[in-house]
Amino acid sequence: MIYVTQPSMPPLEEFVEYLEKIWESKYLTNNGQFHQELEKALCEHLGVKYISLFSNGTLALISALQTLRITGEVITTPFSFVATTHALHWNGIKPVFVDIEPETFNLNANKIEAAITPKTTAILPVHVYGNPCNVDKIQQIADTYGLKVIYDACHAFGVNINGNSVLNFGDLSVLSFHATKVYNTFEGGAIICHDAATKKRIDFLKNFGFADELTVVAPGINAKMNEVQAAFGLLQLKYVDEAIAKRAMVAKRYRESLKGIPGIHFLEDIENVSPVHSYFPILIAPQSFGKSRDDVYNLLKQNNIYSRRYFYPLISQFPTYKAYESAQSSNLPIAESIAKQVLCLPIYPDLEIEQQNRIVYLIKQR
Ligand SMILES: *Cc1c(COP(=O)(O)O)cnc(C)c1O
Repeated sequence: MIYVTQPSMPPLEEFVEYLEKIWESKYLTNNGQFHQELEKALCEHLGVKYISLFSNGTLALISALQTLRITGEVITTPFSFVATTHALHWNGIKPVFVDIEPETFNLNANKIEAAITPKTTAILPVHVYGNPCNVDKIQQIADTYGLKVIYDACHAFGVNINGNSVLNFGDLSVLSFHATKVYNTFEGGAIICHDAATKKRIDFLKNFGFADELTVVAPGINAKMNEVQAAFGLLQLKYVDEAIAKRAMVAKRYRESLKGIPGIHFLEDIENVSPVHSYFPILIAPQSFGKSRDDVYNLLKQNNIYSRRYFYPLISQFPTYKAYESAQSSNLPIAESIAKQVLCLPIYPDLEIEQQNRIVYLIKQR
């Protein structure tokens, strides 16, 4: 069995040492020692000022919208994991879908202005596959119209633009540390912000709104990361650079072996961006390739290789969202076209060369 991704596990003995400390202290959650250590370590590792850890990325997204009191309408992308739009729905916010760029599959900044109405309060773009959005243009629009920007950066752990973390753009950025991501804490997530007052509000919100023993300042939720997750995060952090380097080798081999095949297209690394290779998407154009994306998906599946059609169906096609005017096909031609062609191939640090050769061999089968 080969799945689209597989976590790389740190040495078990090292994790047991952490667990022994948790057993000794009997301090299991609520901003414990490892939680505090991990926040510090991640700020340093990522090059960001403030981070608040969460039990998962979805609750971090929901809480990020609460933090800035976002209401009304929010402009977002249909080409993402469904949790991006669900977070709006759970806040009673209307998602307004805008089409994506054919080059990066990210929200097309040039199409944002036309979607702004008097009810628009924010933009929620996604750095899809870790490729940064057009952050300068998006900020310029946000400044002009007085909008907030919250990035779903769940694919963008460790991504830098000219050496500066992509997480430093926008008002807030949200990470997921789910088991399938480049860096994981089993389940987990985080919000990155740029000032101490905002961090304080985020930390209240993830703990029921408690400011102190007797004071509840907001209708918060329970979204705290526990000590076992935080300890695993500290351990994973030691190995994450090595894991990203191994992913880069897998990506390089895919590019070499799939280069020049008519009907197969893949994304190149972007200049001045340090990639982390969260995913390896290819586009399959059935006319020139001779087989459809689903043909390739099924052939791989018959051979116990599970690729994923990220992101198909588009979020705008799910029942909760498909009635919105902005969800109509005519508004999202690029997203619909990419969703039909895209296939994410298995990529993870321990993917063996022989396994990868077999995947490429099967793709090339006529
Ligand atoms: C994984 C992911 C999420 C959700 O994160 P969880 O930690 O699984 O809740 C949200 N958005 C995107 C783009 C993701 O990839």
